[in-house]
Amino acid sequence: MVRKITCCPHCGSEEGFFTRTDYIGVPYQHGYNGEELDNGEMYDRALEYHTRRYAYCISCERTIGTARQMMKQLGNER
Ligand SMILES: [Zn+2]
Repeated sequence: MVRKITCCPHCGSEEGFFTRTDYIGVPYQHGYNGEELDNGEMYDRALEYHTRRYAYCISCERTIGTARQMMKQLGNER
């Protein structure tokens, strides 16, 4: 059993963590007048994305663990 991570081991913050993700093929929509169109759902339409290897603390941005380990802990490993 993997020990559950409930706070940042570096600064003790319980605020949360983030992972870095590369989205590929995200459509960015422009109008002909040069204005940006509504891109609110742009990430839903990405062709694919890659989650990078590590999870980081929101507060101090130091590495907490692997992204896979954190997703496993949250119960939504893909
Ligand atoms: Zn931290």
